[in-house]
Amino acid sequence: MSSTLLRLGLWILVIVLALYVLQQSFEESPIAELIPMGMLQKTIFVSIALIIAGIIFRVFETGAKRVVKNRCAVCRTPIPHGAIYCRAHLRSVLHSEDEKTHATKVRR
Ligand SMILES: [Zn+2]
Repeated sequence: MSSTLLRLGLWILVIVLALYVLQQSFEESPIAELIPMGMLQKTIFVSIALIIAGIIFRVFETGAKRVVKNRCAVCRTPIPHGAIYCRAHLRSVLHSEDEKTHATKVRR
């Protein structure tokens, strides 16, 4: 999310600056009239707003990652990073998986 905003903002800024340089270098020619300055200025503000929003989102995302711990998929208790279930639920899930495999083995 944050990287998308940052990338979008930077790309718009680059394009607007390129258009601005074009407008400045072809000031006397009809090409300059194709690039409205008011729109360019507005777009610069939008791109800067996007970049600032992206930076704020990034700060929030990194902050959230530190605060919010990994949680069990069943009971939402905090669990170590990389785990899916808490100890109790991991055991029950493994137990039910074990029963499933046992059932198929018996049928064979
Ligand atoms: Zn659990």
